[in-house]
Amino acid sequence: MKDKINWRNTLFLTLTPLSALILIPIYFYFYDWSWWLLTFFVVGFVVSNMLVTCGYHRYFAHRTYDAHPIVEWLYVIFGAGSFQGSVVEWSADHRIHHREVDTEKDPYNIKRGFWYAHIGWLFIARPIENPEKHVPDLWKKPILRWQHNYYPWVATAVGFIFPLIAGYAIGIGWGGLLFGGILRIVFSQQSTFFINSLCHSLGNQPYGDHNSARDSVIMAVLTFGEGYHNYHHQFQSDYRNGVRWYQWDPTKWWIRSLSYVGLAERLKQVSALEIQRAQISFQEKKLLAKGLAHDHVQNMRRQLEAAQNRVKQLRDDYETRKADARQQLKKELALAKAEFKLARRQWQLSCRRLATV
Ligand SMILES: [Zn+2]
Ligand SMILES: [Zn+2]
Repeated sequence: MKDKINWRNTLFLTLTPLSALILIPIYFYFYDWSWWLLTFFVVGFVVSNMLVTCGYHRYFAHRTYDAHPIVEWLYVIFGAGSFQGSVVEWSADHRIHHREVDTEKDPYNIKRGFWYAHIGWLFIARPIENPEKHVPDLWKKPILRWQHNYYPWVATAVGFIFPLIAGYAIGIGWGGLLFGGILRIVFSQQSTFFINSLCHSLGNQPYGDHNSARDSVIMAVLTFGEGYHNYHHQFQSDYRNGVRWYQWDPTKWWIRSLSYVGLAERLKQVSALEIQRAQISFQEKKLLAKGLAHDHVQNMRRQLEAAQNRVKQLRDDYETRKADARQQLKKELALAKAEFKLARRQWQLSCRRLATV
């Protein structure tokens, strides 16, 4: 069956970059350069992307934390200005993507090619007709039904009218609309589109290869932390994508900051043990595929898991003991940690050795 064109999306996605290209020289014919133009663009870009990653993605689509109603309103009203559809539409597509990843039902299926996953899927008519049926929990929220029903008005007011008025108020004329509206939307949309295209084709797969999602630090920088996509597909309920403290994930830092000031709570987090187990299982699969003896791999894995369990057990005990009983436990814990490190080293060496074979 031939795909029908989605004219609303097609016109928007082609006319926004085109008008930016045409209007920028015209603007500079009438106005001088001002640092306000760059400020409008950069602030607008960061804010609209963060509203999508913190709000649309990790809050609404995955429910990885609870947020104060003020935060929810912020996500709903200002998030619409990113011009990525209503929360209901966006989350419906995204939940289907996670459930049906890499299949014909995946809205941005990478198997249909890079450009299809990046932007092409938006040019064709939506395969799902009633997005609300896919997100009944979100549809129950009056604020989201309101945003869905009035989406074009909310998006235009926040994404175009607001920077236009702010620009005139500051004295840069319609430069506010051009840099804080049109140009910002073009770049912000491309940044999100990268998650569906490059994050499913560029990078490595530390947690599993049963789908195309990949981890990449470059993509994490370009997408405000969403580039650790292999982890995200493995543990989608975690509010973090960059799970290590040093991994670039401004979205997780924002969510954590909200929790420090009482605006977010119940941040869902997968335990370090569970994450390590997933990695070990996947590495075991690779070791066996490379031809390492089954018994040897099993033996190493058993040793590693036993050491891991011992550390966990001692840590739990340590929390419940009184100060005087902790001294002895400290020594045992140090020993158990050393044993775990040794077992992990042996495991990693085997993985590395076989990777170069
Ligand atoms: Zn994905
Ligand atoms: Zn997701």
